[in-house]
Amino acid sequence: MIKFVYPGSFDPLTKGHVDIIERGAKLADRLIVGILMNATKQPMFTLEERIEIIQAGISHLSNVDIIPFDGLLVDFLKQQEARTVVRGLRAVSDFEYELQMAQANRNLYPEMETIFLCTNVEYSFISSTVVKDILRHGGDISHLVPEESIHIIEKILGGKENGSGSTDGN
Ligand code: ADP
Repeated sequence: MIKFVYPGSFDPLTKGHVDIIERGAKLADRLIVGILMNATKQPMFTLEERIEIIQAGISHLSNVDIIPFDGLLVDFLKQQEARTVVRGLRAVSDFEYELQMAQANRNLYPEMETIFLCTNVEYSFISSTVVKDILRHGGDISHLVPEESIHIIEKILGGKENGSGSTDGN
């Protein structure tokens, strides 16, 4: 059974992420979206919110699981009995960091491999950071985030504005 792990912050999920998930899921029997809990930056969306947004955006895929993790990616891989990590590459600017991470991980766990899927050119400018910047200023994110996830994001942010949610808003 070929199992891929696609790790990331997904704060929030974008159409670029979904493209990588769909393509990765075609290459593997099972793809695990690993949501990093201990992101160094304070996320805009809580873990539960990020999961809800992803669930909505990938409900059309049957061989994808969403599993949060903390700590080292290599420990998560071992725990999931997976040896392959998938990452997306948007531009040369992503490459240096990704190469360093892939090498550091393989140094810790030589049996693993990282495979890179090049972004669909249509999504190459999309990042969670861009989505968050637009959200902070009340702009339209419909071209950046899967349609099924938008109403969840609106519901979450609406709740926060009314003071019922987390207030970090970073
Ligand atoms: P991280 O904080 O680990 O970089 P992200 O959620 O920002 O987490 O990204 C997770 C992965 O998705 C990374 O490999 C990143 O390069 C990739 N990715 C992000 N946006 C896109 C996009 N628009 N197209 C393709 N891959 C992307």
